[in-house]
Amino acid sequence: MVKIITTLGAKSRHELGMILPHEHVFVDLRTPDQHGLPEARVEKVIELMAPEIKRVKDLGVTAIVESSPVGVGRRADILRAVSEATQFPLVVPTGIYREPWVPEWAYHSSEEELYEWMLMELQGQIEESRVQAGWIKLSAGDNGLTEVETKILRAAARAGAGTGAIIGSHTIRGRVVCDQLDIIEDEGYSASRFIWIHAQNEPDIDLNIEIARRGAWIEYDAIGGSLPDEFYIKRIQQMLDANLDSQLLLSHDRGWYDPAKPDGGVPRPFTYINLNFLPKLRAAGIDEAVINSVTCSNPFNAFARP
Ligand SMILES: [Zn+2]
Repeated sequence: MVKIITTLGAKSRHELGMILPHEHVFVDLRTPDQHGLPEARVEKVIELMAPEIKRVKDLGVTAIVESSPVGVGRRADILRAVSEATQFPLVVPTGIYREPWVPEWAYHSSEEELYEWMLMELQGQIEESRVQAGWIKLSAGDNGLTEVETKILRAAARAGAGTGAIIGSHTIRGRVVCDQLDIIEDEGYSASRFIWIHAQNEPDIDLNIEIARRGAWIEYDAIGGSLPDEFYIKRIQQMLDANLDSQLLLSHDRGWYDPAKPDGGVPRPFTYINLNFLPKLRAAGIDEAVINSVTCSNPFNAFARP
């Protein structure tokens, strides 16, 4: 049976309902050259983020996928503490963000070493956190993969093939996604185990459709952000018209505790989709069964593994 690996253990389909597939509880976007800046205290993160989690839990959301990999402040220990304080499961990634956030050690590691590291986190635990990684999060440069990003992707494809874990990548252009899928397939894994994160940023909807036809998941994940709701509704309708709604994921890319800001800054709530966007989708004539599968079954199917 397939399950999603969370901070509160492996969860089966019947234990979960709506899942937000791309949010952040904790992000540190400072690059490795910025030293001597403040660190976060676990209690402070709980104080800021537990109320945000409670708000969305009360609306029926049953799990959130944390999308901060190594390079942008992944802290599995903090995520576990927030989960335990709220009794709310988070799905934590292994993997490494793009340049210039790639840590020094990854440049010196071989593809084999990166593969072994990801496999260890996907099958065992992240650092000493007692949290098992639930998926693989990567990123690519806007104009194409760099050498170190390619090495990380090859390692990820092999770790994915060995575990069934989904690979999600922050990739702005469809052309770069095609290169990523070529590499994943070359390493013996499948396009159907890849999520194109931030697919709304590709101006050409035909590339969203072409890449979905190749098997990949299409994630529209800045809902409630700078693009109007009507833009997303139109893209969703186009995906439905192409019979690709079973590969669609929706999220906010919101949150989070930012250790570079005093007391973590002011988080943006995870509630926009439930309170504002889904009512608009219903008003646009999207059927309840489709909404249910896009918000519940799709994220489960994407992130679950044997
Ligand atoms: Zn994000």
